Amino acid sequence: MSNTKSRLALLGGSKAVTAAPGDLFTWPIVTKEDEDAALEVLRRGAMSGTEVTKQFEADFRQWLEVDYALGFNNGTASLQAAMYGCGIGVGDEIICPSITYWATGGPAYSLGATVVFADIDPDSLCLDPLDLEHRIGEKTKAIVVVHYFGHPADMDTIMAIAKKHKIKVIEDVSHAQGGLYKGRKLGTIGHVGAMSLMAGKSLAVGEAGMLVTNDREIYERALAFGHYERFNEEVKSEALKPFAGLPLGGVKHRMHQLSSAVGRVQLRHYEARQAEIRRAMNYFWDLLEDVPGLRAHRTPPGSDSLMGGWYAAHGHYRPEELGGLSVSRFCEAVRAEGVADCVPGCNLPLHTHPLFQQADVYGHGRPTRIANANRDVRLLDDSLPVSNGISSRVYAIPWFKHYRPESIEQYALAFRKAALSYKELLAGDTGNPTTMGGWNMFKRR
Ligand SMILES: *Cc1c(COP(=O)(O)O)cnc(C)c1O
Repeated sequence: MSNTKSRLALLGGSKAVTAAPGDLFTWPIVTKEDEDAALEVLRRGAMSGTEVTKQFEADFRQWLEVDYALGFNNGTASLQAAMYGCGIGVGDEIICPSITYWATGGPAYSLGATVVFADIDPDSLCLDPLDLEHRIGEKTKAIVVVHYFGHPADMDTIMAIAKKHKIKVIEDVSHAQGGLYKGRKLGTIGHVGAMSLMAGKSLAVGEAGMLVTNDREIYERALAFGHYERFNEEVKSEALKPFAGLPLGGVKHRMHQLSSAVGRVQLRHYEARQAEIRRAMNYFWDLLEDVPGLRAHRTPPGSDSLMGGWYAAHGHYRPEELGGLSVSRFCEAVRAEGVADCVPGCNLPLHTHPLFQQADVYGHGRPTRIANANRDVRLLDDSLPVSNGISSRVYAIPWFKHYRPESIEQYALAFRKAALSYKELLAGDTGNPTTMGGWNMFKRR
């Protein structure tokens, strides 16, 4: 490689990425099969029914090998129902990571419960089990785990802690459908799994969500909460039966059948498409193994834990190996090489948002977060150092949907060039801005 060729594009060299992306990043992959399935529902006037959704649920049960699957209008609703399913109510607490999309914890408010934030592990970027136990209080009912950016959380340790304290574990699988933890499917390890199937996620259907569980009580409570029209036929519990016909939650959670129909087609192809994504993403990281400052966010190749779909794939950044070069300046150089997606940061720490500090959503006369709580859980927010600092140590990488080695090599070269030329970049480095990342991953891209 000549000097001119390796010169950074940001400093006048030629770009590493010259190939047109084509459909390399297009997601979901929509074919005539999806169109036909949607049209069938439209032409039959079956948009608001439940029969296609029930078929989609059956597909899901078979895929994840669970007893129950329940379709929702979105992932947020499935998480709210999972919390209700676990018996969470007024004055209760849930624990979730501070680095995640707001819907992991947000629905707790509507149940009169509060959210306690725990820190994340700096490598997996998922809930740190070592920061969990001291946050459990007498009102803690559940831990909500997120398999962040597709990486499985440390489920064995988290399940052991939950068992010891007799509390439930809800898996938020919105980033990681189809991923494995020690050979077990994500969403089936905790007491209940809930997930978004929104069009930007790994398993992308449209606006939709799914809840999966092997626990009959959780299933019935989740169904009774917002699936009023299925109450009569499906709820057997004596405690719930008297309320048949109307939703306990005063909400309506039914999935739109255009989503269920497209979802059935997407699911049919999901494992094969996921395998190709996995191959492409692992190839990208293999090419960067020896580059200082950069580390893959992935499960060890060859292990029986697998990334789920690589949703919003990110990489680790180690500025200390690059003379302290800021991740912002690094990303600027990578973008100049032709990688539009390379932006610093991830989700902002939820505990820093005013919604979780002072907002009085329901007129309690005090912050909603502590409106019904028996302790001021906001005081626990002081001890979340990894969450507070993570945005300067991660960046988005291209989320390849196809294994095209020549293209992937160009993208990897862009990252390699920027990291290896860190000394030239230090001169123009004005440091990181005060805020990097966002509250919403989808809009950011
Ligand atoms: C997207 C997302 C949700 C919410 O799902 P919607 O379908 O958008 O309501 C919940 N949790 C996480 C981690 C998410 O990324």
